[in-house]
Amino acid sequence: MTTTDRMLDCKAAFDEAQDDGNDLQPCPRCGLYTDSVIRRHRHTAYVEDEMNYVTCCWECFDIEEDYWDEQWNDYYGGLM
Ligand SMILES: [Zn+2]
Repeated sequence: MTTTDRMLDCKAAFDEAQDDGNDLQPCPRCGLYTDSVIRRHRHTAYVEDEMNYVTCCWECFDIEEDYWDEQWNDYYGGLM
């Protein structure tokens, strides 16, 4: 086996792994394995910007956004 063959073999194995859905990650919130787990900017206004980011799946992010929308509504509602 030549080096090139070995490299191609390696690539094929890699592609296969991708097809197998190995890019799925567990959501830190709900523990669900999904490919939608990424870092997102959430609807908060922490002074420390890192706090305004959350890593989770779409479902959890939806819940999170709804929660913060409500918090903001309460906040602004309280001002009026
Ligand atoms: Zn989740």
